[in-house]
Amino acid sequence: MNTVSKGPEFVVARAEGAWLWDEHGDRYLDGTASLWYCNVGHGRTEIADAVHKQITTLDAYTVYGDFANGPALELSARLASHAPVADPRVILTCGGGESIETASKLARRYWAALGSPSKTHLISRTGGYHGLHGFGTSMGMDRFRAGFGPLIEQTSVVPHDSVEALEQEIQRVGPENVAAFFAEPVIGAGGVYAPEPDYFTRVAELCRGYGVLFIVDSVICAFGRMGDWFGVERFGVSPDMIVFAKGVTSGYLPLGGVITSGEIADPFWNHPGNPFIHGTTYAGHPTCCAAALANLDILEREDLFTASLEVEAHLDVSLRTLEDHPLVREVRSGVGVMAAVELTEKALMEHGITTDEVFQEARARGVVLRAIPTALLMSPPLIVSWQQIDHMTSTLRSALDAVAARHL
Ligand code: PLP
Repeated sequence: MNTVSKGPEFVVARAEGAWLWDEHGDRYLDGTASLWYCNVGHGRTEIADAVHKQITTLDAYTVYGDFANGPALELSARLASHAPVADPRVILTCGGGESIETASKLARRYWAALGSPSKTHLISRTGGYHGLHGFGTSMGMDRFRAGFGPLIEQTSVVPHDSVEALEQEIQRVGPENVAAFFAEPVIGAGGVYAPEPDYFTRVAELCRGYGVLFIVDSVICAFGRMGDWFGVERFGVSPDMIVFAKGVTSGYLPLGGVITSGEIADPFWNHPGNPFIHGTTYAGHPTCCAAALANLDILEREDLFTASLEVEAHLDVSLRTLEDHPLVREVRSGVGVMAAVELTEKALMEHGITTDEVFQEARARGVVLRAIPTALLMSPPLIVSWQQIDHMTSTLRSALDAVAARHL
């Protein structure tokens, strides 16, 4: 996971559009937009120019107390203007995990401010990934929780596809103890699981009925990956909070944040006697915000929202041709520019095949994918061409063939 401790196996030296080059000058297709984030593609000089201009105007100045800066204010207003959240307010952070931390604390603090301090429990979904800070680790998958000793106890997970299970869990814990429910629009790192079309409208209604905040983790799904701004518009819901990061700058610089409804912010917003004390040195960093603004300009100017719906459709058609491969159990695609090709249980358990082998074979053939224990994941930049998608699919097929030839 960490190249510093593992050894620098694959040194990425340069990138342009959807292509990468390693230190030896060999070229690869970036099938994952790095870690789900490079939505506008690599090497955009507009973002570099905006960053240079900002650094030479006001490099950095922390947003705290009365202090603000132009890019942070402009970015917040722009994000709020598109957010499907009632009376939205924006809190900027440095990334996804930090934003989950912010949303979790804000949810608890909100209920405490309303006189319900027992509402601290957070429910998330199986396969959900919410970063590796305190709350995110506590809400996350077992393999990310192990070995750290006691985590935050007031957390639990429910199956990702069942509204009934969520209701039972709220009843088990007691609604008077539940602060919030966290969900990704489409589960990403956990293996690309899209919801049933009415799942989120039912969840939103359920949460409202029980007085549980509904928090959407759109760290992967926002900024065009689902064809819209925040990854939930296509499901027709208005969450209490949206957490974002990654695609807001396409990863050119670190930035994240939380968009919260005014109702949740109001007990603290402009109430010096009752502040929400939670901030970090680099939150609202003007240079990162300038990168975000230039990135959003590109998304809008090139209408990558619409383009991504076409990429989503082509990715789906292309990858489904792998369904007949003997090593493939399932292709999950068709909702967002993200997909998983899951290997059969027989391949994994009986033949001892690992997804890492497939990943290595694909990389040796010039395509970078992502391996999780049971599947290969894809999330190319939104500017990927259909030809590049087909190249990714055919390369994955030859990688699977090579692994099959070795084991079967
Ligand atoms: N939430 C989701 C859905 C993510 O996919 C990630 C990172 O992959 C995070 C939160 C954590 O973001 P970060 O790595 O910026 O802390």
